[in-house]
Amino acid sequence: MSYHSRLNKSQDPPDLDTQFRRAQEGVPSPSSLLMSLPEAVMKSGSVRPAVPTAGQSQPGFPNVRHLTIDDFEIGRPLGKGKFGNVYLARLKESHFIVALKVLFKSQIEKEGLEHQLRREIEIQAHLQHPNILRLYNYFHDARRVYLILEYAPRGELYKELQKSHTLDEQRTATIMEELADALTYCHEKKVIHRDIKPENLLLGFRGEVKIADFGWSVHTPSLRRKTMCGTLDYLPPEMIEGRTYNEKVDLWCIGVLCYELLVGNPPFESNSHNETYRRILKVDVRFPPSIPSGAKDLISKLLRYQPLERLPLDQILEHPWVRAHSRRVLPPSAQMAS
Ligand code: ATP
Ligand code: MG
Repeated sequence: MSYHSRLNKSQDPPDLDTQFRRAQEGVPSPSSLLMSLPEAVMKSGSVRPAVPTAGQSQPGFPNVRHLTIDDFEIGRPLGKGKFGNVYLARLKESHFIVALKVLFKSQIEKEGLEHQLRREIEIQAHLQHPNILRLYNYFHDARRVYLILEYAPRGELYKELQKSHTLDEQRTATIMEELADALTYCHEKKVIHRDIKPENLLLGFRGEVKIADFGWSVHTPSLRRKTMCGTLDYLPPEMIEGRTYNEKVDLWCIGVLCYELLVGNPPFESNSHNETYRRILKVDVRFPPSIPSGAKDLISKLLRYQPLERLPLDQILEHPWVRAHSRRVLPPSAQMAS
């Protein structure tokens, strides 16, 4: 049976709500899904398991069991990416719901992106946080690589922002707290995201943010923003100037995000690349009178030319405007852990 003919296969209607609730309440994902990369692989950075090509065994990559596309029932397409599509899917055995990202090997090879894909897999598979999209595992066949991802039921923050133009203080402050917490976790693991923007943020069952696109969209900027400037809007000065940079680039990006969520457009948006670059390097931020003063204070403390002057993540969590407006709710599993 061809891959696409599976799409319309009739099947018992999945009880999505129960699945979501179970996932949210910390019912562990089936062990057959979980990647068991030796911790040493990540730490040493020396043993890099290649994205295996067809028929190749996976030394040092002892999956509990080899998954194949036949282990899944495929549901509706969730979206199109540059290298393939993402589908809602369900494990036949356990009925566990996931998002299956299907990438075509030919396209990845054509663009020379095998290395970046390995990075995405290795980084994201080792991050477990309520505000970071889980990558449970991957498998491949002759033509495709499949990433088994946590399903984000409310889709992209970018689409929500397009619809409603702006978010209110409560939503924005909640997102800032979620991102500051998730990035604290990343930075402790020496992972810098570098590409926080609405296109790379998905939304969970309760509207909580899930950071996606680790080490991948960095190299494949999304084409969805029509203007070429779109992808420049979140670039920090040190990256524009080609200087060395560190995890403080993420502080700049969430400052830009906070502004865009409240105002409806990113702070340095202009009609040309050069003008955007120029405004970023001058940190030419203009606040509309409507912006709440607490938010303006936070954004001003994040959008600093000097990376060291940017407000650290722990102080974002303690910032009075964030504390006053955030309504963050943790899933029960994360509450128990903390
Ligand atoms: P790329 O990541 O290759 O730059 P992209 O971000 O445009 O491309 P994908 O990440 O492949 O595309 O995702 C395509 C679309 O599928 C997204 O826009 C999103 O709406 C949806 N999507 C992706 N992953 C998930 C997920 N885990 N849960 C729900 N929807 C998803
Ligand atoms: Mg993406």
